[in-house]
This record gives sequence, C-alpha cells and structure tokens, in this order.
Amino acid sequence: MTVKRGLIIGRMQPFHKGHGQVILKTLEEVDEIIIGVGSAQISHTLKDPFTAGERIMMIKRFLAEEDVDPLKYYIVPMEDIEINAIWVAHVKMMTPPFNTVYSGNSLVQRLFQEENYEVKSPLPYSRKLLSGREIRKRMIENKDWQSLVPHSTIEILKEIDGINRIQHLSQKEQNES
Ligand code: NAD
Repeated sequence: MTVKRGLIIGRMQPFHKGHGQVILKTLEEVDEIIIGVGSAQISHTLKDPFTAGERIMMIKRFLAEEDVDPLKYYIVPMEDIEINAIWVAHVKMMTPPFNTVYSGNSLVQRLFQEENYEVKSPLPYSRKLLSGREIRKRMIENKDWQSLVPHSTIEILKEIDGINRIQHLSQKEQNES
C-alpha cells in the first residue's frame, strides 16, 4: 500500500484530551488516519450516553480547531457485532484499507494481531484522569470535567444538552434500583 494509513478505534464517550493527543501523535506517523467510532449503535446509557453522530461532531470540530487537513482523515461509525472472531473482517469492510492499528485496548490489539496487522499501543496521557469513565462520573457529580476534554467537546455537549442527559440517565438508574 503506497499510502500509510492508520486506524484508531474507540467509543469516545465522550471524546477527551487523551483521544485528541493519540490522534495528533498518530498523524505525525501516517499519511491518513481512520477514526472508527466504536459501539456506534449504542447511546442513552450511562456507559455510552452519546450517539455516534454526536461523537463524530466532537471529533470533527476538534480536528478543525487543530487545523488538520480534512483530506487526512476519515471518521467512520462502527457498530459492534456479536462475533469477535469476525470483527476485524467487519471493520475492514467498513473502512478504507489500513496498515497499522493504534490501540491501547487489549481485546482490539489481540483481534488485529491474530489477523497479522501491525498493532501499536499509543503512549498513555494522564490515563487515570483522561478516561471516559472518570469524565462521565464527574459530569454526573457536577465536578470539573471541562478541563479533561477539548473546547470542541464542551461546545457540542452544550449544543446537545449532554450534561442534562447523563444526569437524567443517572437519576433514572437510581430511581429504578
Ligand atoms: P476508548 O474510547 O476507551 O479508547 C479509544 C482508544 O483511545 C484506545 O485505544 C485507548 O487506549 C485510547 N486512549 C483512551 N484514553 C487515552 C489516554 N488518556 N491516553 C492514551 N490513549 C488513550 O474506546 P475502546 O473501549 O478502546 O473502544 C473499542 C471499541 O471497539 C468499542 O466500541 C468496542 O465495542 C469495539 N469492539 C467491538 C468488537 C465487536 O463488535 N465484536 C470487538 C472488539 C472491540
């Protein structure tokens, strides 16, 4: 393959500064990057509050704010499938061809390695704080989450009333338990 193309896949619930750093760093190594928005079919749950479309908006606005040339990236929503053993084939079908996969997720690494892809583990950036779980927890508890996400994510969450949504989901779960 003449073009060096890298794949990053993540739920990005929500898109945070760690995801941003991984994408910008990867762009230094590849000609083009494919950003797979994982578990695209899931939204409106405490673990996955935001839709694939909303997450795509967060990523696209971040890349625009960072002045990344739109010709250098693809953002592809990626639904989960039940059968892990054929997930790589499913991903391949949905994306442009790629040579290298960048992931810190051990299942993702394993599945692509078994299909003989080059897999690289991105350096962790403040992994304890820059984590979707930590950020969603802070959103529910009205603690500082804003410092952990790019400005673009804050803007999109305002547009979609995202904090009210996750707090409502949390309230609903408490009422039902
Ligand atoms: P995530 O949003 O937690 O992370 C995305 C990527 O960013 C990961 O590689 C992670 O290591 C990296 N990252 C996150 N925070 C970082 C930080 N602070 N510093 C450096 N790197 C950081 O998403 P995820 O859970 O890894 O997403 C995997 C997706 O693949 C999920 O949607 C999952 O459902 C999907 N998947 C599906 C199947 C299937 O359908 N059968 C199988 C395997 C995986």
